Amino acid sequence: MGEHKHRRLTAGSLNGPATPKPRQAIVTDIEEVGKILAAEKTFCDQCGAEFPMWPPEVSLTHLHTEHPGMFWPPMAKEWELYQADADLAQRQNYLTAYRVKFVFIVLQNRCDLYEKLVAAGVIVPPAQG
Ligand SMILES: [Zn+2]
Repeated sequence: MGEHKHRRLTAGSLNGPATPKPRQAIVTDIEEVGKILAAEKTFCDQCGAEFPMWPPEVSLTHLHTEHPGMFWPPMAKEWELYQADADLAQRQNYLTAYRVKFVFIVLQNRCDLYEKLVAAGVIVPPAQG
């Protein structure tokens, strides 16, 4: 990532040592993460509709159903295949992959939830220093 290179230039000069920040947290139990996120709310950025943050496919279904124009064709195609897939194991794989991706996006954007999940012991912060 180009951002990293930029930070290195200033580290040690203006800001002192680089500020430690989470890189890659380890999710120990996605089901437990889900229980905590289920109590959080998220809003459709297209129409403002409110959803529980978990399971994330609830809001995803809304987006694909109500706002299909926002998706790039490969994503729309993937969703279509998932919806049509009669293979339960494959459906589960798609969902799990989507849920994991979703958790990482949430962690990147929400420090408060990150701290909540760390405190609950369901994710382990990366080693620092
Ligand atoms: Zn919407």
